Amino acid sequence: MEKGSIYEGSCFCGAVQFNVSGEPAVMGYCHCDSCRHWSAAPVNAFSLWKHDAVRVTRGADLIGTYNKTPRSNRKFCKTCGGHVFNEHPGWGLIDVYAAVIPTFKFKAGVHVNYQETVLPMHDSLPKFKDIPTEMGGSGATIAE
Ligand SMILES: [Zn+2]
Ligand SMILES: [Zn+2]
Repeated sequence: MEKGSIYEGSCFCGAVQFNVSGEPAVMGYCHCDSCRHWSAAPVNAFSLWKHDAVRVTRGADLIGTYNKTPRSNRKFCKTCGGHVFNEHPGWGLIDVYAAVIPTFKFKAGVHVNYQETVLPMHDSLPKFKDIPTEMGGSGATIAE
């Protein structure tokens, strides 16, 4: 645990700037259909941080929110459309997309919603069918 580490992040155009500090609660890949559509990518590399670890330093008024479900407040820059993070109110955690905090060393620990995968990955990490029990899922895992 490197306490005090700060990682800078931004949207695609740079109008929205933020940082995360400390270490995330968990990181990994989400294979769900929602993440796939939202990110326009086959998987979403997520890192989940406590609210007080995420600080918007510029362009807070430019951040838009889209709710497809009450579980996710998906945040994006209203100028460039770039995605920045996703608040999960039920968990008290914010998913900061690994791709928008380039200096942070992303290291996946888990795969979630693997039953929906379109990009199977063979990396020996645990693969949850949906999500772990402590986050409200079945906790069931799928073999590679
Ligand atoms: Zn932007
Ligand atoms: Zn997802």
